[in-house]
Order: sequence, then C-alpha cells, then structure tokens
Amino acid sequence: MADNDYSPGVRRYVEQGRQQLAAAAAGRRRLRGMKFDTLAVHGCYGMDAARENRGSINEPLYLSSAQHFENSDHMEAALAYLMPSWTYSRIANPTLGYLEETLALLEGYGFPGDVSACAVASGMAAIFLATNPLLADRRRGEKINLVAGSKCYGGTFMLFSERYAAERGIDVRWVRNPLDLDEWRSLIDDRTRFVFAEMPSNPGLAVCDIEALAELAHAVDAPLIVDSTVATPALLRPLCLGADIVVQSVSKSLNTGGLAIAGAVIARHQIPAKVGPPELRANYAGYLKLLPGRDFGPALSPFNALMILNDLRTLRAKMDRLSRNALRVACFLQDHPQVERVSYPGLAGDPGHALASRYMWLADGEDDYGEPVNRYGHLLAFTVRGGVGSARNMFDRLRLIWRATDLGRIKSIATIPAISTHQQQGEQGRDLAGIVPNLVRLNVGGEHPDDIIADLDQALAGGPLNP
Ligand SMILES: *Cc1c(COP(=O)(O)O)cnc(C)c1O
Repeated sequence: MADNDYSPGVRRYVEQGRQQLAAAAAGRRRLRGMKFDTLAVHGCYGMDAARENRGSINEPLYLSSAQHFENSDHMEAALAYLMPSWTYSRIANPTLGYLEETLALLEGYGFPGDVSACAVASGMAAIFLATNPLLADRRRGEKINLVAGSKCYGGTFMLFSERYAAERGIDVRWVRNPLDLDEWRSLIDDRTRFVFAEMPSNPGLAVCDIEALAELAHAVDAPLIVDSTVATPALLRPLCLGADIVVQSVSKSLNTGGLAIAGAVIARHQIPAKVGPPELRANYAGYLKLLPGRDFGPALSPFNALMILNDLRTLRAKMDRLSRNALRVACFLQDHPQVERVSYPGLAGDPGHALASRYMWLADGEDDYGEPVNRYGHLLAFTVRGGVGSARNMFDRLRLIWRATDLGRIKSIATIPAISTHQQQGEQGRDLAGIVPNLVRLNVGGEHPDDIIADLDQALAGGPLNP
C-alpha cells in the first residue's frame, strides 16, 4: 500500500518514523569518523540513547517479549513496518538492535557504503538464514547450484550436503582447493545462486582470494558470502574486499568469554542476487530480519546479546595479543619432532601465507606499532607423528589446555575434529574437507604462551597417561 492509503493518524507515525530513521542515519555518519576501538566500545549507544534509558552508561537489557503501542495507529504503522519499532522479540528487540548496530559498524569499518546486520541465535542459524532465501524461486525441475569451499566448518558442510543437496536436490559444488581459482571458475555458472567461502577455514586454516572470488561471483549476478568467524572484523573485513555478505559465528572470538551462543549476517546494501523482491537486494540483512527471520524464528536472546556486547568491546586488543600467542605456539610446534605439519597462515611456509598476508591486518595496527601489522588469528591445526593413537595420547595428556569442541576463547582449547566437529560428515566428507584422523585443532588462548607451550611439550612427550 502507498503511504497515503493510510489514515492521517497512521501517517503521523510514519512521519515520526522517518525522523527517527534520519536521526539514526546521521548518528551512523558521525560514527564513520571514529576508530575501530571506539566503535567496539560504544557501538551506537551514546548519550542520546542513554537519555531514554535513565542515564545508564551500558546498553539496557530489554527482556520484555513485546513492545507496548500508544494507540491503534501506532500499532498499525509498526506492524506494517512503516516505522522503526521492535514489536515482538522474535522480530526485533532494542538490546539486540545495539548488538546489530555494533556488528555492522565493525564489519563495515573502512567500507564506504551502507552496511546492516541481523543477529540470530547461533552461527548455524546465521548461515541458514543467509543462504536459504537465495535458493528460493525454483521453477519446476530447474537445476540450481551453489559453489562452496569444501574446507569449511562441519555444520556448514552438513547443512549444504544433507539439507540442501540430499533433501532438496540442489547441486552443491564443492571446491577442493580454495586457493585454486581455476577450480572455482570451472564450477561457477549462470545457475549459481551464491558463492560461499570460509576465510580462514575451521579447522584447516585454508585461505582464499576474496577479491578474485567476488569478481567471479558478480560476473554471474551471484553474491559472495564469506564466513570470517576465525578472523573477526578486527583482522579481516571481507566487505571491503568485494564480498557482499559476511556470516559470523558470534559464539567464537567475538565473544571470547564463551558465555553465549549467537550468530550474525552482516551485508552491504545493494547486493547482486538472482531471486527475491527488490528489498532483498537493497538491504539483505534488514530483509532477513523482518521477513524470513520473522517466519523462521531464530531469534537471539537479548540477555545473550548483552553478554556479547560486553565481551566484544576489547576485541581488537584481544585479537592482537591472541594472534601473537598463536604465532609463538605455531613456531614451537613447527620445530617439534613429534609434529608432522602445522597449518597456520602466519607461518612463512604455509600455502596460504601470501594471500593471508595480503588480506589479514590488525585494524588500526599502525597506531600501535608505527606501521600496519599482519595478524593471523588464534586458531591453528597440527598433525601428530605416529598416527591417530599418538594424537589421542597427546590430547589425553593435556593438563592446561581444555579438551572441548570450542574455539575463539580466551582459554586454550584443543579438539580432534575427526571424532568431534567433523565426525558426522563421514570419511568421504572428511577427505573432501582435508580432515585427517591425527589432526588436532588448537585454539590458542590468552594464557602466557610459555605455559601453553610447556603443556604441549609435556603432552607431546608421550608415554602413559598421568593417574
Ligand atoms: C562454530 C562455527 C560456525 C557455527 O557457529 P555456531 O555459533 O556454533 O552455530 C560456523 N562457522 C564457523 C567457521 C565456526 O567456527
């Protein structure tokens, strides 16, 4: 309906909404001039917002399931999405809104255009929400495909291969070597709905050329989706490199304390897409939030949103420190006789080192170090000499490093992907993803690196388990 089909009462609220949107846009423009740390610490929650919240210097926690409306006109305008409102916590919530604005600011840091974010209950919910609408509108029998790097998170592998390929008959085309542009090029065609890559990948730390992939995807009017959970916006901002959509498992390094699970889709405005209404292309994250998100219902708890906001204020400093720790641990492992191979893009001998060095920079690092500095994150993987038995023995001997299927933490954590995160995809799937049975994934935490190294050293020494 056009605006003037509504009653004067509704139109007054629409006008009020326009003013709110203009004020929010002006606020965002002001924030554009600020540095990464300032955006992480404050997000869009400043003194004007505090005035509406009894002066609270922290974002308030709105646990209420629903919003009260002043009258029926207000309700009608809000529910027709004619004015910014939050309505009901499955659709939107003010506390969630602060997290979404912050994520959009950080992922959009240095990007010249508009960026929006939609926060949901897990990283997998974000990946489902980001991809599912792009697979809609299949005319009877139409063959459609998606092209994705096979070096990816186990959950993503299962979503694409089980839910999309096996259940729906979508042609899921896995790229075995994400570094090989010819392989990507040979699989992307006119029926490709989206191109998907992890950078760097979990658990293998494979990298890919985001700029080149964006070019290949855009040539067939498909968006490039990048999962940059392992890097976080403190080290890599795919939107600045040509990607259209970023997905984050906010459960990980954006939330090092590990007290909440969450995910987010962060997208630039005006994305290429073969399907959907104009609103989908105009503001994909906003579209996901108000329409598919409303209908699927993967809402994030406002409590979790606040836990995450509180943790990510120090993101950049943590990613700097944790990356430096990880490089030291990677160098130690590389020289250890019990270790076959270390995958870490920060190591000069890593096949992805050159690309990672082109793309992964500590945001505003020149302000700390006098020149820009590369940082490669705090996830690494290594294979233990002697096969799966030796790998399990080493794993079972760890005393400081936790055994858990978790990463992104301020605490060091190790896992064996073949029996945990990548168990369900089976041997063939693991082969495709490059996961061998003696591969150990290590999340290097914020402990002193000497203590992390000492624990690895005693564990790698082998021998009987301690009583
Ligand atoms: C953990 C992870 C996910 C899934 O996130 P959840 O929050 O656990 O649902 C997706 N991608 C990557 C790279 C991950 O590490």
